[in-house]
Amino acid sequence: MQNWNSRNRALQLPSEQKRAELNLLLVGCHEIDRLLTTASCGKSKNINYSVSIATGHEEAMRVIESKQFDACLVNFDLAGKTGLDLVRDAAEAKHGLPFILLTDRDDHRIDAEAMASGVVDYFVKDQVTAPLLRRAIRYGIERKRTESRLAALADFDELTGLANRTHFHRMLRHEIAVANRTGRQLAIFFLDLDRFKRVNDDMGHMMGDHLLRKVADCLRDCCRETDTVARLGGDEFAIVATHIEDGGGAEVVANKILAALSEPFMIVGHNVHTSSSIGISLYPSDEDNIERLLANADMAMYRAKAEGGNTYRYFDANLSEEIKRKRSMGRAMRQALDHGDFTAHYQPVFDVTGGQVIGAEALARWRPDGEGYISPSEFIPIAESDGLIDRLGERMLLTACKDCMAWQGQGLKDVGVAVNVSPSQFKRSGIVEIVLRTLQDSRLDPTLLELELTENTVMRDFEEAAEALQRLRDEGVRIAIDDFGTGYSSLAYLKHLPVDRLKIDQSFIAGVENQFGDRAITRAVIRLGNGLGIDVTAEGVENAGQLKFLNSKKCSSVQGYFLAKPMPLETFVEAVRGRNVLSGAA
Ligand code: C2E
Ligand code: CA
Ligand code: CA
Repeated sequence: MQNWNSRNRALQLPSEQKRAELNLLLVGCHEIDRLLTTASCGKSKNINYSVSIATGHEEAMRVIESKQFDACLVNFDLAGKTGLDLVRDAAEAKHGLPFILLTDRDDHRIDAEAMASGVVDYFVKDQVTAPLLRRAIRYGIERKRTESRLAALADFDELTGLANRTHFHRMLRHEIAVANRTGRQLAIFFLDLDRFKRVNDDMGHMMGDHLLRKVADCLRDCCRETDTVARLGGDEFAIVATHIEDGGGAEVVANKILAALSEPFMIVGHNVHTSSSIGISLYPSDEDNIERLLANADMAMYRAKAEGGNTYRYFDANLSEEIKRKRSMGRAMRQALDHGDFTAHYQPVFDVTGGQVIGAEALARWRPDGEGYISPSEFIPIAESDGLIDRLGERMLLTACKDCMAWQGQGLKDVGVAVNVSPSQFKRSGIVEIVLRTLQDSRLDPTLLELELTENTVMRDFEEAAEALQRLRDEGVRIAIDDFGTGYSSLAYLKHLPVDRLKIDQSFIAGVENQFGDRAITRAVIRLGNGLGIDVTAEGVENAGQLKFLNSKKCSSVQGYFLAKPMPLETFVEAVRGRNVLSGAA
């Protein structure tokens, strides 16, 4: 690895060396040699010039390839080509060599073209003197040095001096190419400090920065010279280690890092404790694609963190299968959204005493080409992690509102619709506006729309949620708390929210016949709802025994396979109109 120090050494200026010798290449202008070898030019600055001569473009490119030059003086006219062609070709090959152009005549067109091509200086031959030339060479070399330093800055993290993300990716690509040739294995480490935010928050950003620098030093010490250590951003670091078989495997490095980082750091008189979580992926065993290799190490790191931190985890292939499936499902969902392939099925909700259908819950349905239906429990979380849930949610909302509007005129007057709202959809600013606009577009009476939110969705940012819900409620929209009993355990919040319905989670209903706890909770929720004047719906009613229990406890409404399964729009409308949904076989 080319590290910061070796780079600095490589960049050392001739003037900083004790005794400098400059290697110059003259191309098509050997007469200039005379100027460089005069006593006044060389000795005064204690610089010796070692001059090589090439006659044309091809020969020049060849020697530039094979030898390190400090600067090149090139004639504009080069039989068949120009000196600027040489400048451009050498630049393309990334030689970083300063070029000084010499011409026979003063022509400002050449001048302009020369500047644009990146030559560092330009002289008319019979006007150039030894001191002018000497200065031009020195400035030229210095200018190139500055350019390389700037390029180096673009490669390194300013705070720690470690490689930055861009450089890390480049080095990894390079190491993969080397590993392909040599058959060696690489290990990629992703590392994240466990409680860095606390250090930053409690002790200030200065301490945070100090700590990051100490961690960087520590990581450098734990790795070999040939490994690339990088800071990817924040408190995230990455390492590509190239000689892991020789050292007994990646876990040796991981353990060394864990041990070193769990020692407290002394920072401006304070003992700062930290620890880290490390994810490891191996090349070529885990992946042959650089992006996935990194994603795998990242995933393994999250697993290490989820297991309490201060540990390392290898990426494992089971995880990889899962990720592949999720990734391809995410892609397919994106397309399905573009093509409008998601539909809504409707599950009737019944009034317990009269048996009438009082509403329906809209449930998203997706059937990818050539496959059966995929459960929303599977695709909704992927839609959430892939950032598709907002679009899907809006689509479902519009479909449900339009369908509900349509069934008002088909004999299902006053049968409302309930739509599930995901946490991210609700968190997004503008949810109120989206709902109101959708109501307008579909011309649905707001009192026929109910939004189902889970307790956790509401509790995440209570103040904001309460305000949004109140605004919706003021417009007539009804609010239901879904999966009630599974989330936030405090009931006090109910007092402060405009809630119209509690939907008792199906896990409790499943146990009402023989589980004492489930019976007690179900009974308590019904009482709570009745006491607060909030409707209570029991979800997942699957048999007559459960229905009887709920009826006896005065639960106002029920929903479940025993009464009716979710069904497509046409079936739903027909079934409710003909009342044959109550058979439970739909
Ligand atoms: P949920 O909101 O609790 O919806 C009720 C789920 O229970 C539905 O599953 C429904 O088909 C199922 N169900 C109804 N009666 C019974 C029963 O008697 N027994 C059993 N075992 N299950 C019953 P589904 O359609 O698979 O949806 C699963 C979850 O996916 C939903 O749970 C909801 O959280 C989410 N979901 C569905 N559609 C949407 C949507 O449009 N947007 C969002 N954000 N989430 C949705
Ligand atoms: Ca629901
Ligand atoms: Ca539910």
